[in-house]
Amino acid sequence: MVKKENERDPWDFEFDSNKVGKYEDSYKMSGSGLLCPKRNRSIGKPCHVCDAVQELYKYPEGSQERKVAQQKGAKWEYYICAVFPHNKEKAVIVKLGKKVGQALVEGIKLKGWNDIANPKAGKGREIRFTKTKGDGGNPSYSVDPVLDKATWDVPKKVLDNIPNIVDDPVKTVTSAAAEDIFDVKTMKFGETIVVRMLPPAADSIIKDAAHGVIFKHYGVTQDEIDGKIPMSRTLTTFEKGDNKEPTAQKEEVPWKEEPTKQEESAKQDAPPSKKRPACFGRTNFFDESSSSCTECPEFKDCGKEVMKNN
Ligand SMILES: [Zn+2]
Repeated sequence: MVKKENERDPWDFEFDSNKVGKYEDSYKMSGSGLLCPKRNRSIGKPCHVCDAVQELYKYPEGSQERKVAQQKGAKWEYYICAVFPHNKEKAVIVKLGKKVGQALVEGIKLKGWNDIANPKAGKGREIRFTKTKGDGGNPSYSVDPVLDKATWDVPKKVLDNIPNIVDDPVKTVTSAAAEDIFDVKTMKFGETIVVRMLPPAADSIIKDAAHGVIFKHYGVTQDEIDGKIPMSRTLTTFEKGDNKEPTAQKEEVPWKEEPTKQEESAKQDAPPSKKRPACFGRTNFFDESSSSCTECPEFKDCGKEVMKNN
């Protein structure tokens, strides 16, 4: 018997790969490190560290200023909600680093993983995260879906109480109990975990994505963020045991910054310069579904460069 559209189970969820990822610019962030008040849009305040870091990106690659910018620029944390097969009655917030978070979103966007947050038996699939030793012994994480469809339904009780990680991740993560958050960093080398990714919460305004991103600064003080004191232009030495973000994020650049008035008038006076945004031609920043990219004057050339580099 063919089911009519209105009889479709509302929890029979699939991603639209054209839409997932497009809300990232509106995401916010938390944990150790300090929240960026600017890039976490739910906070929506100026960030003097982001401004100072942007200035430092004018220095050439390899310079001390660039190193400071890389260390102090906002870092990304990805969050999803999931259920572990050994505890099907409880939704857990899973914290992922930038690379593996991006790999997950890219999988949905480009590799047909549209079913990975479908909570129905025979329709959804479990996903696997694995921690291995990467370059230089640094931890490296991978994500891939289990080939076969899941054999179990995520219980309704869990679906009715999914944390809303999409709309305001800062609020959701900061108000969650520590035992309700699983950080993949706590995995052992060689360990694999299998989870069932959960769809967006019932009250989620954004329905096309099921992850949140939080932006944090490391190696700076709140006074520097608030502009009470200028940001130090020297590298911060982290104490052993500090929860320093991995160097894997060192390519991070503040790429969607409004030009200052000075820069704006300089642009009008001066002939067009060859200076391009720091994200120019970088595969991991180029997103043709993001307005940050499509509205950028370099969008077309950047796309060509990305194709060339791939
Ligand atoms: Zn910031």
